[in-house]
Amino acid sequence: MSVDLLLAPAGSGKTEYAVERMRALLAAEPFAPILVILPNQLQVNEFRRRLAKAGGVLGAEFVTFYTLYAQVLARANQPLPRLSDPVQIRLLADIIGELWEEGQLIHYANLRTRPGFITVVRNLFQELKQARIFPEDFSSAVKGLGPRLEELATVYSAYQDWLQRENWADAEGQGWLAAIALEENPDFGRELRLLVVDGFDEFNPTQLEVLNLLADRARQCLVTFTGQVGQPCLVHQRFQRAREALNASLGKHLEPLAVPLSPKRSMALAGIEANLFESSNTSLDPLNAVEFIEAQTRAEEVRAALRWVKARIVRDGVEIPEIAILARDISAYRPFVEETAAEFGIPLRILGGLSLGENPAVNALITLLELPISDWPQRKLIESWRSPYFDWSFIKISADDAAKLEIAARQGRVISGLRQWDEAFDLLARQKNDAEVIADEEVQPPTLEPDRSYELRRKFEGFVEYLMPPARGTVHEFVSYVEDLIGEDPMLASRFAPGSQESLQSLNVVECACQNPATTERDVAALRAFKDVLRGLVLAEATLGNKELSYADFFADLIGAVRAAKYSAAFDSGVLAADVLEVRGLSFESLVLLGLSEGEFPRVEREDMLLWESDRAVLQAHGLAIESKLLNDEPSFFYQAVTRARQRLLLTRPYLAEDGQPWEPSPYWQEIKRLFDHPTIRIVRPEDPLPAEEAASLAEYILSTQQFDEHSIRGAALLSSRLDREPRGAYEGDTSELARVLAARYNQDQGWSASRLEAYGTCPFFFYISYALELEPTTPPEEGFDIRMLGSMLHQILENTYRQADDPGNPEECLKLLPGVADHVFATAPSDYGFRPTPLWTLQQQELIRILERTVTALAQVSVGYLPRYFEERFGMGNPSLVLHTSQGDIRLHGYIDRLDVGPDGRLRVVDYKAGGSAITSKDLADGHRLQLPIYALAARDALGLGEISGGFYWHIQKAEASQLKLERYEGGLERTFETAIDHIAKHIAHIRAGEFQPYPPSGGCPSYCPASSFCWRYRPKSY
Ligand code: SF4
Repeated sequence: MSVDLLLAPAGSGKTEYAVERMRALLAAEPFAPILVILPNQLQVNEFRRRLAKAGGVLGAEFVTFYTLYAQVLARANQPLPRLSDPVQIRLLADIIGELWEEGQLIHYANLRTRPGFITVVRNLFQELKQARIFPEDFSSAVKGLGPRLEELATVYSAYQDWLQRENWADAEGQGWLAAIALEENPDFGRELRLLVVDGFDEFNPTQLEVLNLLADRARQCLVTFTGQVGQPCLVHQRFQRAREALNASLGKHLEPLAVPLSPKRSMALAGIEANLFESSNTSLDPLNAVEFIEAQTRAEEVRAALRWVKARIVRDGVEIPEIAILARDISAYRPFVEETAAEFGIPLRILGGLSLGENPAVNALITLLELPISDWPQRKLIESWRSPYFDWSFIKISADDAAKLEIAARQGRVISGLRQWDEAFDLLARQKNDAEVIADEEVQPPTLEPDRSYELRRKFEGFVEYLMPPARGTVHEFVSYVEDLIGEDPMLASRFAPGSQESLQSLNVVECACQNPATTERDVAALRAFKDVLRGLVLAEATLGNKELSYADFFADLIGAVRAAKYSAAFDSGVLAADVLEVRGLSFESLVLLGLSEGEFPRVEREDMLLWESDRAVLQAHGLAIESKLLNDEPSFFYQAVTRARQRLLLTRPYLAEDGQPWEPSPYWQEIKRLFDHPTIRIVRPEDPLPAEEAASLAEYILSTQQFDEHSIRGAALLSSRLDREPRGAYEGDTSELARVLAARYNQDQGWSASRLEAYGTCPFFFYISYALELEPTTPPEEGFDIRMLGSMLHQILENTYRQADDPGNPEECLKLLPGVADHVFATAPSDYGFRPTPLWTLQQQELIRILERTVTALAQVSVGYLPRYFEERFGMGNPSLVLHTSQGDIRLHGYIDRLDVGPDGRLRVVDYKAGGSAITSKDLADGHRLQLPIYALAARDALGLGEISGGFYWHIQKAEASQLKLERYEGGLERTFETAIDHIAKHIAHIRAGEFQPYPPSGGCPSYCPASSFCWRYRPKSY
């Protein structure tokens, strides 16, 4: 055995030396077997790429330790199946569940079903196995230390027992077995002429044992290490530990080779490598090789960094694979990097994988699959009908149907449950059109015509029948059901789990995902990863044994596996974006290091959740090779990060945190600054103008040159009109350009209700949105009745009570009748008015009767000498309309008058019931906000000819009091109220015809039912 150790600082050409050594050997002995072991697949790919660039070699094989283990076992005829991630998670969940059922798991009982718990248990077992700690050793070391550790030992033993019993292995177990196979087969590896081990900064005991055996058999072995001869410095600490472990494993002290290396690094970067964290008074010249950017936010930081990257590619001609963007944790930057790279047109290769559960296509599938378990909730169900990932054409569900279903759900007050959906469709078919009762109250919600509802019901029932899973089944059966729903992947071969004999019509999910080119690659990769998860579940079942389970249990397993799974879109090339730890051993011509602010890098080292530092000390005292988690490796990681750059390095950091507070720089940022003589720090703020030559996208160029297109100019005009104190212009309700159309639409033939005219008086834009554009507010159905329904019920009960009384002026008789009348109305109110009663409905009925009793009594007290005579009198709509002769020509009005009382002098008093509690004063009439009362008085007198009017008021039912506004007490008298109302009506109509719909929020705040309240720039909340 000959083991050569090449010890040299980072980036000094160790890999180049290894490549040259391989080439020299092959020149002398063509086809000599060479094995190169590298830390991960990314480095395998990069090593191959560099070798190809250097001319390539035949006969060299590149592996990670895991691939090597599998190869050794295959050669020893022990090709044990290896647990995939989903199978391992499922196995551990099963083992933990069984131990809990047997009463062996008490300390972790509450955590046992959490997917996060299974993942940390799996990570612990991986660490124990990497340290070659056998279950019996772990059990004996923790015996007597309490259930926290003893229960972990129980799970570990059960897990390992299962693997041995069933002849399966996990990744680390394959390493154990590969080491045994190597020992039992002394010929394995003897053919190797050269073994190269490159790019490692740590070895676990299994790797050391395998390495020891192979190094002993290979003719030559070359191990490269970062470091220096002599006293190790802080940044080499981690490499030094790995080197000592290797020496101990080989049983000898390896002396470093003395070979000349030729580093290809700029002077400034070489200076950083040599002086980082050293106390020397260095004063380097950055010479354009090291740059610093401080940006206001992470988003601005990424934008500046990617602008720099684009300049390297476009101006300096740097090849894309020679550039990398690193961060200690790239996930915090991921959305910004993806978005900005897409804008700048920079191809990207992000390492680390995306969370499968967060992919929109997978999310849509999960939502759909959950519907039967969550009892068909209306919002998620309608979302599924609308989802672009599902093709519902085979049951003829369209986007239009989703809108209709939403209306049906709102009308039927569907929250969830097939019974509620059924009731909603029943209601649609027979709903009493109560528009008459509430026409004058407020804006009406959209309704669905009964004959259209039959078709919708059929589609809904088809959907439920299609989606309904079997109540119980095996995992294989449930996976077949899910695979049938998803359908074929047009770009892949047949499925793993064959569909049922009579396959369902599929939703063609993959094909739908391909309809959007911008997201196809991402979504197809995620859907394939989702199918892998399904296959993992089938495999787990095949391995763990067939068990019947409920659909809910299957779905819980599926969700757990999806949450634990990652996926990567298959980008072959692009600028690499990765965590610092992923790229150890690689180098790049140009490098960006993001996030050098306090707390980001260095990261605070933390204890392991399950195996604390004190537990580790106990295990070490028992001679077990477990390491501390607090090794102070952050300086070494930083050294590895900055030494990845060969020619240019950009360091960046945000200077404001997400809450807008100043964010201090990281000590590592300060350390690099310290090494340079007057480093220039570029500060990037969003308000600073960007020179046109620096623009990295069309959007940036337009912004810097102010060459806005018509859309941008329109956007700017819109914003400026919204910021204006006084609303004006086309974007703020001025539709005077449409005056001709509006005048034709609202011509002399147009009938008006008081509520429409009041809507204009409340806020012109409210009228425009509600009545001119006929937009509807879409509020999700909730349990219980709303103010509109309450108003209708109260109106109905009062009307029926007074009508049924022999003497409606006798309060005692009315109060006697009232409970029975109310009960009659309440009995059918949910279906009549379309609401879903809450559990409080019975109590609410009693309370409403109390309110009505109070109101009847109070109304009688202010009605001495008056006799209620007319109820719900209709004008217009078949009866004579009220026709006003105004400056705008004749205006025809229609509506219902709640009540007319005859006074002692034979004249009539108008009473208009209000369910809401807002105060109504004379000013409301003077300002044109409240016009109903004088209109009704005029209608009773002039249109219906019922008699002269003496006065009138609004009656607040719930407060049991009259409004402050009383027609007879209005300044100028009754006739003045008529003139005021007619004056306002004429003005409102003139403005409507002229297209004046500027938003003016009412002084008391905007009505909750204004359909514009969710987007109106001038919305003002109600003040109480
Ligand atoms: S939200 Fe207020 S200001 Fe806007 S349209 Fe509605 S009522 Fe008018």
